[in-house]
Amino acid sequence: MISEQTEKPLACWKSKELHLGEVIDCLTIIFKSGGCSWNRCRMCGYKNERFARISEDYLTDRLMNQLSFVLNEFDPKSYQMVKIFTSGSFFDSGEVPPKARSEIGRAFRGKTIIAESRTEFVKSDILSEFIEKIDDGSKEHPFYVAMGLETTNDYIRDKCIDKGHTYDDFKKAVAEGRDAGSGIKTYLMMKPPYLTESEALSDMKKSIADVTGYSDIISMNLCTVQNKTEVERLWKQKAYRPPYLWSVLDVLIDAKVHILCDPVGGGKSRGPHNCGVCDPDIVGAIRDYSLTDDRDLLKIYYDKGCGCMDEWRYVLREEKPYCMPLTS
Ligand code: SF4
Ligand SMILES: [Zn+2]
Repeated sequence: MISEQTEKPLACWKSKELHLGEVIDCLTIIFKSGGCSWNRCRMCGYKNERFARISEDYLTDRLMNQLSFVLNEFDPKSYQMVKIFTSGSFFDSGEVPPKARSEIGRAFRGKTIIAESRTEFVKSDILSEFIEKIDDGSKEHPFYVAMGLETTNDYIRDKCIDKGHTYDDFKKAVAEGRDAGSGIKTYLMMKPPYLTESEALSDMKKSIADVTGYSDIISMNLCTVQNKTEVERLWKQKAYRPPYLWSVLDVLIDAKVHILCDPVGGGKSRGPHNCGVCDPDIVGAIRDYSLTDDRDLLKIYYDKGCGCMDEWRYVLREEKPYCMPLTS
């Protein structure tokens, strides 16, 4: 029996976010839900987080208790934006029952909401219903649906990630979202497994250019090694290395639009990293850039360089699919 007093989301925290040219306070919530219906992506650790084999009513109660915890813990006046994640898709009714979804919407009415979902659950009628709950007329864009496209290359998404949807599916979901009056946030994934550093870099640059016309917000996730994932198995076999922070700087400096990027696990062996010496400054610069859109912050460190930049350049030049990763 789960105690109602102690039932918390998987995670919940406040941070700053650059939105429409303004730095605002944002509450991020990761609800524990019925779990992802796809459950197969090679890098995903959240797929293990779920309430299994339970009734809709029980699941609704679990979510309501988590919502109460959040509302008690964080003063609603202290944030303007709410980012909602689940251990899968917020708009999958098997995972987040409609009643729970409505209550969550009502609780955050008047805020800017961003909620993540797989493409197949992005339907204009379901989104419209949710937008009605949150929209008090005070914002031109009260809602953004966030989708993990990861890359615009169907082959890479299928073989390296096993994501289970296509670029066309994403475009259809964008149209459904637009029909409902939703903004679009697109997540891309830097360096899924089975790509060389150079392939990962090119894939990200192309994906950013491709999705710019479909997205109001683009966020680049840097692949990390999460527990109990296929990526972790490969990493333990020394068959996977997370991206170099130099690659991340290269992508962000090169992009024509602002890209949100939180280098989670930056500087650690399970996260994006360089040599260990230059990592803290670069991780800080990426965070600052994400919040300010000031590319010069990145260029300072890119131009300054480090002894490990030669290693990164060597890897870009010499790493081949049959002999990778060259470094750890
Ligand atoms: S769709 Fe999302 S939650 Fe589901 S397995 Fe893939 S990354 Fe994880
Ligand atoms: Zn270095």
